[in-house]
Amino acid sequence: MEWPKWRPDRPFHRFRDEASPGPELYQAASQLLLESRSTVVLTGAGISTPSGIPDFRSPGSGLWEYVDPMDVASIWGFRSDPARFYRWIRPLAAKMQAAQPNPAHLALAQLEELGLVHTIVTQNIDDLHSQAGSQRVLHLHGQTQQAVCLECGLEQPAQELWETLLQDEDALPHCPECAGLLKPDVVLFGEALPPALLAEAQQAALSCDLMVVAGSSLEVMPAADLPLLAKRRGARLLILNLGQTLADSRADLVIREDLAISLPAIAALCAQALDQTS
Ligand SMILES: [Zn+2]
Repeated sequence: MEWPKWRPDRPFHRFRDEASPGPELYQAASQLLLESRSTVVLTGAGISTPSGIPDFRSPGSGLWEYVDPMDVASIWGFRSDPARFYRWIRPLAAKMQAAQPNPAHLALAQLEELGLVHTIVTQNIDDLHSQAGSQRVLHLHGQTQQAVCLECGLEQPAQELWETLLQDEDALPHCPECAGLLKPDVVLFGEALPPALLAEAQQAALSCDLMVVAGSSLEVMPAADLPLLAKRRGARLLILNLGQTLADSRADLVIREDLAISLPAIAALCAQALDQTS
């Protein structure tokens, strides 16, 4: 089939029945990045699934089948039965410890190095963006690489916590300072997002002129609101996601493809264009 010609003034979308994105779509996406002076990327579970980290809201991920998430992964559930929480999170933690950044993470780091991505806001609790080399990453839902003491509030790297947990099924991690219980520094159900971090992400969304959604179906608030915030301020919106998202109809361009395929293709076109113009 013939691909429609990209016109920046007239958004078009790739629809479900089309087999795979054509080169014109990748070209159009790279054009959006090249034309933007300030780009924010919002990433979700879809960018880490190619690294073997399950989307823990997905059926079949195995994480919710025998437990009630609102119970086990809530702050109340954690406080009332931390051992149960750690038993539940152990398989996910093992996958996160073993995971490596995939081509999508690396492409975003490359785009940042090219000066085309300025901030990454992520809903993910892994640290694959940092491992890939991205410098400015806001972890809206916290990250498993940090732990916090519930008694004295001391924050510390969580490497030892996970090593202990993965070796000893019954171990519970305790604070080296006060022996209080340690909690991975991730936002559990019933906990508010850190207000300063959320404000920083909102400010980035309000002042960007391109928002890229990468691997999020935009179902979880308040992160899901960021693209619409940007859009209302006149930013363009590029959505890269395998499935549909709740903001597709508001986007300037939607590419439904595995991110480990689409992002490297787009980054390569950007690098090529900058190389030619320099
Ligand atoms: Zn402590």
